[in-house]
Amino acid sequence: MRRLVRTEGLTAEQEEILAVVRQFVEKKIIPVATELEHADEYPTEIVEGLKELGIFGLMIPEEYGGLGESLLTYALVVEEIARGWMSVSGVINTHFIVAHMIKQHGTDEQKRKYLPRMSTGEVRGAFSMSEPGLGSDVSAITTKATKSGDGYEITGQKMWLTNGGSSTLVAVLCKTDEGSDSVYKNMTTFLVEKESGFGETAQGVTIPGKIEKMGYKGIDTTEMILDRHRTSVDQILGGVPGLGFYQMMDGVEVGRVNVGARAVGIANRAFELGIQYAQQRETFGKPIAQHQAILFRIAEMATKVETAHAMVVRAARLKDAGERMDVEAGMAKMVASEYCNEVVQDSFRIHGGYGYSKEYEIERLYREAAFMLIGEGTSDIQKMIIGRSLLKDYRI
Ligand SMILES: Cc1cc2nc3c(=O)[nH]c(=O)nc-3n(C[C@H](O)[C@H](O)[C@H](O)COP(=O)(O)OP(=O)(O)OC[C@H]3O[C@@H](n4cnc5c(N)ncnc54)[C@H](O)[C@@H]3O)c2cc1C
Repeated sequence: MRRLVRTEGLTAEQEEILAVVRQFVEKKIIPVATELEHADEYPTEIVEGLKELGIFGLMIPEEYGGLGESLLTYALVVEEIARGWMSVSGVINTHFIVAHMIKQHGTDEQKRKYLPRMSTGEVRGAFSMSEPGLGSDVSAITTKATKSGDGYEITGQKMWLTNGGSSTLVAVLCKTDEGSDSVYKNMTTFLVEKESGFGETAQGVTIPGKIEKMGYKGIDTTEMILDRHRTSVDQILGGVPGLGFYQMMDGVEVGRVNVGARAVGIANRAFELGIQYAQQRETFGKPIAQHQAILFRIAEMATKVETAHAMVVRAARLKDAGERMDVEAGMAKMVASEYCNEVVQDSFRIHGGYGYSKEYEIERLYREAAFMLIGEGTSDIQKMIIGRSLLKDYRI
């Protein structure tokens, strides 16, 4: 019986979507996840299945061929998918962020051009802020777009593009000279079209190859070299330069709910594996679950999973209601990712020596959980966002 990670007040449609995704995860993801992950193999069949289910268009409005669902539905779907294999949720996350940015900030023409093909998964999105010299400090971006004739030329090096190889549309944050005193107002997001794959995938756009990672395998994470890539004003997100930083931060804010949801999915799976193992393994004449130290560990794990889930749900619901949620998204991301690592560590300990064997799923979760601490901003960065925002609200 499943007791944890339940959500009150869902519509029949939301329940139906989640039931279908849950079944897909049980049948198509969990049985193959560890093998594909160990081989670092792209989950092509799983991705095709997700396309058929309409997951790539989950939050894209119906008028553009999507399912028009809420951020809450999206977050709950991500929890289910990450419970099966976190990398699969990474395949859809950057796509979802780019679709969200186009939906919120794109021109009508950009919406018509991209959203219908993003709904089917024909166009696949990646987003790119980070560079070799920066991640947290977005103001330090060096990739530059300079005016050239009617359009722009982009030159620079980008780093850590999730889906960098498999995507065909990358939202790239660049420096532009808008003459503002604020560095944040001299940034512009360009929509860069390219072929999927590696090497020179568009004029002046090179994707060198996959970065070898500790976990989060299967999915491609890459660099991107832009060398006088020519583009037009039409490819500026929203058509107006100087808004890029704010558009990206909006994308990252919903991305934080997504990473929080992924962390809940991993933690929930780690809890399930731990509570199962604790009833099977015997020491000193009884199942280890009957030793109080293990029982308490189980209770703490479950409490952390539930707390993180509740915070992710609250942040998503605020966004869906059109309310501010910078603090709540930051808190949800921080708590969910930190708890995820603690729960996975606890489950690992319950597994004893077997947790260290690649035969056991917890070994994979252990490596995946670490990334939750990094993606969409570290806990230090969440604390900066939460703290600064609260100082404004509680100003004396
Ligand atoms: C697998 C993977 C996939 C990724 N995918 C993407 C992607 O798709 N698109 C993208 O743009 N980026 C992506 N990233 C980059 C990711 O967003 C950054 O790695 C992350 O934001 C941290 O930046 P950094 O690595 O430069 O660390 P740094 O910013 O150099 O931080 C180093 C340490 O210093 C701390 N720190 C930094 N500033 C402060 C401060 N002011 N106060 C206190 N502590 C501070 C940080 O918390 C951290 O502990 C990805 C990264 C990885 C590993």
